[in-house]
Amino acid sequence: MNSRPVLDCQIAILGYGPVGATLANLLGAAGLDVLVIERDTEVFAQPRAIHFDGETMRVFETLGLRSAVEAISRPGMKGMHFMNAADEVLLVRAGTGLDGPHGCANNHYFHQPHLESVLRAGLERYPNVRVLHGMEAIAIETSEIGATIDLQSAKDDETRRLNTQWLVGCDGARSITRRVIGTPVDDLGLHQPWLVFDVILERDPGLPDYTIQRCDPARPMTICCVTERRRRWEVMLMPGDDPRSIVRPENVWPLIERWVTPADAHLERSAVYTFHSVLAREWRSGPLLIAGDAAHQTPPFLGQGLCAGIRDAANLAWKLERVARGTAPATLLDTYASERKPHVQAFIDLAVQLGDIIQTTDVQQAAERDRRFLAGDAKVFEFPSPALGAGLHTGPSGGVLFPQPRLADGVRLDQRVGYGFAVIADPTFLADTPAPVVENWQRRWADAGATWITDPGPAILQWLTEHDTRAAIIRPDRYVLGTATTSDTLNTLGGMMLAGIET
Ligand SMILES: Cc1cc2nc3c(=O)[nH]c(=O)nc-3n(C[C@H](O)[C@H](O)[C@H](O)COP(=O)(O)OP(=O)(O)OC[C@H]3O[C@@H](n4cnc5c(N)ncnc54)[C@H](O)[C@@H]3O)c2cc1C
Repeated sequence: MNSRPVLDCQIAILGYGPVGATLANLLGAAGLDVLVIERDTEVFAQPRAIHFDGETMRVFETLGLRSAVEAISRPGMKGMHFMNAADEVLLVRAGTGLDGPHGCANNHYFHQPHLESVLRAGLERYPNVRVLHGMEAIAIETSEIGATIDLQSAKDDETRRLNTQWLVGCDGARSITRRVIGTPVDDLGLHQPWLVFDVILERDPGLPDYTIQRCDPARPMTICCVTERRRRWEVMLMPGDDPRSIVRPENVWPLIERWVTPADAHLERSAVYTFHSVLAREWRSGPLLIAGDAAHQTPPFLGQGLCAGIRDAANLAWKLERVARGTAPATLLDTYASERKPHVQAFIDLAVQLGDIIQTTDVQQAAERDRRFLAGDAKVFEFPSPALGAGLHTGPSGGVLFPQPRLADGVRLDQRVGYGFAVIADPTFLADTPAPVVENWQRRWADAGATWITDPGPAILQWLTEHDTRAAIIRPDRYVLGTATTSDTLNTLGGMMLAGIET
């Protein structure tokens, strides 16, 4: 066996999927020494995710990649329609206009390999981020300085050892990092095989330009308009289906001949996936952390698995940066799981409930379900927007996601702030506070990198009124640290913020 010299880095990211690549961009921009390790040599070519939400686009905007992501995706404004076998609408997940609460549409459709290529290209901006392709982590141990990872080449018997202060396992559903952390994984109740296939249209036979969840007890399926000529079907496997043979073209086409035939399109690929709903209990053990599918998996009925992983990265990166620089205690990292777990569980629980609606195969139960839904107008629902679990935030609005409106000068909030803290105050609040106090805050907090927003514009002023407050501190991941109506409270919040910035 050939042995190579030992590698060292400050932060190792295991796995170069969308979550690892997003985290690497955030840490790269922060100037940290990062090494990404990936078993494969190319972007995974099989399309998986096709939808992400507005909050996720906001993270891509923070990475400086919004235009590049817009170039490979399309906004979807019509929401998702749950329809029965008679094509009656039972339920609608609402869409938004182009200027939704996050400063963009709330739904975007894309081809996952294209998104991953954009995220990887983004890393070329950071010489402090190295990427090691074609190496698989085969063993992980914690050490005095952090963790030691044994790597093996995927194509020959070359091995390397890596020493790192921190290791974030973004290594997917079969995560070795999760195994080494040794956490139990909670089962949230849904495990069902589905056939997933994508077709490329050669002509459009009049397919819908929005997503349909077809709640047909004879054959539940999802029909998605992805981008340009690409369309996705997800088809539930029924008793008697053979997962090995159903993927063959001669078995796939008859399932969808009502909508499209080989005369209209060609099959890009087909595969059977078992949709799971699971949540790891522990997301950190000392220097080891997990994010993305390594920490949670959801059935794709809300199109939220990847989105949840991108939120993990946005929640973790600013905390890891401060801990790695020694400006915050390592316990700050414990707020990562305590905040993110209940948040992601709210999405998984809703996806499982929707799965119960879509996956009904009993004809009588389906008829009863239809009667219930059709008794009134079609029920419209939004994505959940749960507050974070307990962590680094306080008060009734603490842990709530702050929107991205435009400021008084027309600039979007996040563009002004970057990936840092923001202090937002109603100008009358500042006018009511003694000038030396304000000057002291501005000097200390701005020196620590927080951005002061003193020209909030009407949408932010409205948010402050609706939340019965006059000032707010927003964290780098856009969640509210806390709100204040008095200068004493704002001062306390400022102290909380600085505790995560200064030693
Ligand atoms: C059919 C389907 C449809 C979906 N639709 C949606 C959707 O519409 N919207 C949505 O938000 N989500 C959706 N998802 C979920 C989404 O695809 C995943 O949540 C997302 O890919 C997870 O990203 P990740 O980076 O955490 O993991 P992955 O993408 O799995 O990446 C993990 C990486 O780690 C590498 N790796 C693993 N182990 C090692 C090791 N030991 N050494 C080195 N490298 C390693 C792997 O090679 C891989 O590149 C869907 C999933 C499926 C299957």
